[in-house]
Amino acid sequence: MAANTDFSPKPIFSLAGVDRQMPPTGLIAPARYVQGPDLLDHLGRFLPLVPSARPAVYISAGGLRRHGEKLLAGLRAIQIEGQVEIFEGECSISEIERAAGSLRARNTPFDSLIAVGGGKCLDAGKCVAARLEIPVVICPTIASTDAPCSALSVIYTDEGIAHGGESFPDSPALVLVDSQLIADAPVRYLVAGMGDALATRYEARTCYRNPAGRAVIGGRPTIAAQAIAELCAQTVFDDGLAAAEANDRGEVDPALERVIEANTLLSGIGFESGGVTAAHAVAMGFTRLPVARANYLHGEMVAMGLLTQLALEQSPDECAQVARFCAEVGLPTHLAQLSLDAAADGPALQEAMAHSAATPLMDNEPFDVTPENTWAALLQADEIGRAATAAVGDQAYRRLHA
Ligand SMILES: [Zn+2]
Repeated sequence: MAANTDFSPKPIFSLAGVDRQMPPTGLIAPARYVQGPDLLDHLGRFLPLVPSARPAVYISAGGLRRHGEKLLAGLRAIQIEGQVEIFEGECSISEIERAAGSLRARNTPFDSLIAVGGGKCLDAGKCVAARLEIPVVICPTIASTDAPCSALSVIYTDEGIAHGGESFPDSPALVLVDSQLIADAPVRYLVAGMGDALATRYEARTCYRNPAGRAVIGGRPTIAAQAIAELCAQTVFDDGLAAAEANDRGEVDPALERVIEANTLLSGIGFESGGVTAAHAVAMGFTRLPVARANYLHGEMVAMGLLTQLALEQSPDECAQVARFCAEVGLPTHLAQLSLDAAADGPALQEAMAHSAATPLMDNEPFDVTPENTWAALLQADEIGRAATAAVGDQAYRRLHA
């Protein structure tokens, strides 16, 4: 199962032989989704939903130190001895093949893979489970991306450059979100997840309004996915600041629960079945710049990608509105907040934007996307973002990036 190198995973719904005038609509979602405080302690109780009696656990060494004890105790409570495979840090083909080989060599008939961690560990876990042909259980320890609920993974090079995707016939069998783990994690992750979640509304809207737009799974977006994407961003706008404060205190409250659900479930279904376009194309371009990919999270790059998308779509008022919220919550609003400079990094940035413009994700925009108009949109977004930050202040950003 080789990764495509064009950013776009193979659509799950093939449109071959289907009437292009009236393409089908479709929606996929994880089979089970459970969210609440301290659920990881009781993981064993939820495994019958898969069902699974011989799971392998895929987790980073740091994750194992932090969460291993309660995770394995939760399994032992139902007489399951979890076997651990360490995630070595990058969602790359070499790591995926290594982990799949290591689990195969144990000659244990694993009947599920429980991936525990951040977006890259979860995405790599989906790829490993697909190779072993077993269901995947997803336990996010942060709410920084919408990776948990989808049936696809973004593949990176060993150096961390986004270069392709894999899609799977099955969505995760179970997504179990322990909201206390997320409240215990640094707030910057939750805020980055809000960047990814905000983009979901605008990307899905563009795909829905453009008759040629297609969801990530193939086919036209359903009105259900469109409504979920809308609710996703609205939840972040309404509850984002309160959720970040609760996260700061390490407390789970209703606002934090709602934003975790928006970042994880709503954003996951919204992007996969609603469609992805310029915000993610631009974010993937940023991963080509070493300073950006080494220092910023996916959702932070998506936030700047979203501002660029809104400029590209000639919605400067919406761009300013989103930029104000980003400044209030601490998401990047301009290039300097991704350690980039339009003048000093000009040639590399223009090359990155040319890559963004050429990705198939841009086919969902209802007009021709070129390196020139993408670059011009980035510069306009940078200007709008700087104005928003000047008005709101950059205290929130500085607090997260101290
Ligand atoms: Zn994303």
